[in-house]
Amino acid sequence: MNPDHILSVRDLKTRFLMDEGTAKAVDGVSFDVSPGQVVGIVGESGCGKSVTIKSILGIVQKPGEVVGGEILFRQRGNGAAAAEMVDLAKLDGRGKEMRAIRGSDIALIPQEPMAALSPVHTIGNQLVEAVRLHQDVSKRRAEELAIERMTEVGVPNPAERMSMYSWELSGGLRQRVMIAMALSCSPRLLIADEPTTAIDVTTQAQVLRLLRGLQQNHGMAIIFITHDLGVIAQVADYVVVMYLGRVMETGPVDDIFHNPQHPYTRALLESIPSVHALSREPLPTIEGSIPHPFNRPAGCPFAPRCVAAMPGKCDRRTPKPTQLNGGQSVSCFLHNDAAEED
Ligand code: SF4
Repeated sequence: MNPDHILSVRDLKTRFLMDEGTAKAVDGVSFDVSPGQVVGIVGESGCGKSVTIKSILGIVQKPGEVVGGEILFRQRGNGAAAAEMVDLAKLDGRGKEMRAIRGSDIALIPQEPMAALSPVHTIGNQLVEAVRLHQDVSKRRAEELAIERMTEVGVPNPAERMSMYSWELSGGLRQRVMIAMALSCSPRLLIADEPTTAIDVTTQAQVLRLLRGLQQNHGMAIIFITHDLGVIAQVADYVVVMYLGRVMETGPVDDIFHNPQHPYTRALLESIPSVHALSREPLPTIEGSIPHPFNRPAGCPFAPRCVAAMPGKCDRRTPKPTQLNGGQSVSCFLHNDAAEED
């Protein structure tokens, strides 16, 4: 593992073994995250981005299972001990070691805070429990830390909010409470799973600014999952574009937006509505839809929808990732003829 990386995902494979067949939800995904870096994973619904982060967190539900690859994570050093590298793919998701990493070294901001927060426990009780689960502090100290975190994430009147319930807060405030909870143990890696999907656009901009500010203050790394390229442009340093469980293109955010190399990335960018478009002009879309997971096409997964597909090649062989000059990597026969082995 490169010493500059806090996380290295290598050839990760996660399958769902069902009566109807096997769904390859994550099929050979690789990417790296450096300390202090924001990596955005983007793709349409069903592209495997959420299953990728569930695999990292060890929370894939049966019949899902990580069946291959490595998830190398550099753990926080213990006392004088240096940081240790651990393969999360080999840990039991419910085991003691993984539970200790989850919530302290790696924290999650979920998509839907209303579902993640308990409606029958006060906000204060839930924050205090999160703090004391990973820190040996008194209840009073945990309450002080909870209030400090809520102040940091911009919750107004935090001491009063401690005795409130999640259903008494607005969507934006609930998401701020979730961020406070995720930060309560100073994680080295924060995973944000579409954290702005359930909130309005104005609050979304505030939450994105807040996350960027917190990342800079705490120096933590963030993996940001979204289907929204506009959000990626605002928060990410580095982008991973996924389609049907595979990585199509990776690269620094400016290169991905100004010099996309994969036909899928180009099609996604062309689908963003423009303020300069004429009022009656139809919005560009990507023709077709994502294939059913039990009915994956042979060859390149994007071939049935790709305007540049080469019959007899793209529908038979799967392109290998190719490193381009300038830090981008792309899986497409337009750049390299190398194919994956069957
Ligand atoms: Fe399109 Fe072929 Fe490239 Fe796949 S490999 S993206 S089908 S050109």
